[in-house]
Amino acid sequence: MRRITLAAGQVLTQADLNRSGALPREVMESAAAIVDDVRERGDAAVREYCQRFDGACPSEFRVPQELVDAAPSIVDAEFLSSLRRAYRQIREFHERQRENSWFETRPDGTILGVKVTPLDSVAIYVPGGRAQYPSTVLMDAIPAKVAGVGRVVMVTPPQHDGTLSAYTLAAASVAGVDEVYAVGGAQAIGAVAYGTESIPRVDKVVGPGNAYVAAAKRHVSGDVGIDMIAGPSEVCVLADASADPVVVAADLMAQAEHDPMASCYLVTCDPALPDRVLDAVERLVSQSPREKITRASLDDRGVVVVAATLADAVEAVNVVAPEHLELHCEDAMSLLGSVRNAGAIFVGAWSSEPLGDYVAGPDHTLPTGGTARFSNPLGVYDFQKRSSVISYTPQGLLADAPAVQAMAQAEGLWAHALSAGLRVKLAKEGERGF
Ligand code: NAD
Repeated sequence: MRRITLAAGQVLTQADLNRSGALPREVMESAAAIVDDVRERGDAAVREYCQRFDGACPSEFRVPQELVDAAPSIVDAEFLSSLRRAYRQIREFHERQRENSWFETRPDGTILGVKVTPLDSVAIYVPGGRAQYPSTVLMDAIPAKVAGVGRVVMVTPPQHDGTLSAYTLAAASVAGVDEVYAVGGAQAIGAVAYGTESIPRVDKVVGPGNAYVAAAKRHVSGDVGIDMIAGPSEVCVLADASADPVVVAADLMAQAEHDPMASCYLVTCDPALPDRVLDAVERLVSQSPREKITRASLDDRGVVVVAATLADAVEAVNVVAPEHLELHCEDAMSLLGSVRNAGAIFVGAWSSEPLGDYVAGPDHTLPTGGTARFSNPLGVYDFQKRSSVISYTPQGLLADAPAVQAMAQAEGLWAHALSAGLRVKLAKEGERGF
């Protein structure tokens, strides 16, 4: 891991982090080319990319519903009961996010408000290249279902034999996904954004993935909705001298094992801690079946920041703006108010980040690449849209029309003034009852 030592009061910069944007330019270019090709050539292009990147392509992209329905009876009982526990807790948490329509009536009878409507159709992306993610099926689908989305379509890469794992399908069944397609990567994002002969177009595509998936979502954004840039995983551990170096090492590796492009940060005000953590990583990593990925991530993208004070360390965390932040500090809860930028904050050493990955309840689809400065965790709000509602009475119109006419005149918009002025005349004459 690369080490940065900050002098007292020195502020960490994006340049220190070698970060010029949320995603690498070359990845954005490749993903855009794949999406554009799928838009142009439909299923034929999807098949070619599927074969090239996943090593196999199913004869039909849509997974028969009978296979999805049967999956819970195939997986082992312990997994299924864990999945159901996770389902209940994630659902309970997300139920609290549901937003309702609201209306208010002014004294003149004018009604103003917001009508909240679920999206008609969404695609949820579930990663599947280097690992299976049944947990992501729940995290993506539950908020969509709580919002009341009409059609929830799931896309995920096929395994090397062209099928999907029973674990992933069992999660789709438990979460109530409406349609499952064995297609992943940028080609899946292009397919659901523009539609192909066999894959439906949707209104919004959400969910995490590797850098190619995140870049493809960014490329289609505007033609369809997207949730956020939820790319390769990140963790930032903020630790003081009270932290257990072995626990911190495990938490860094838990993120690094996702992807060579995953990023791990250790920010501390204890200059002795980094070496103790790195020694522990060295001792543990060789036991991991994912040693190669873990080492690649930590060696190429790992960063240790040593700050002069805890306050400086917290400011460094706000510059990193990580997807996951762990606070391994004495009285960790007292730091919460100073943290401005993080997708999910795990407060205190007992709050292992994988609890949040699987069962705690909050969503694990989170902003990466510094976008936690302005983005939210995936939530029910991503699947609801709002329409403003405006209903005037004649009294309300007579009160507001002069302001409309004055502003329309200033903007040179003659018909705007006419539209209000005509109604003033009608209201005064009492000719029309609308
Ligand atoms: P994935 O499904 O995201 O990506 C696999 C696909 O990437 C393949 O099907 C292929 O189409 C495409 N691909 C691979 N190499 C390519 C190349 N050179 N050019 C073009 N396309 C290519 O699965 P994954 O690779 O296992 O990655 C999962 C990612 O999801 C990890 O980075 C993990 O950290 C991340 N993740 C993020 C969050 C979050 O909330 N931010 C949550 C869970 C997982």
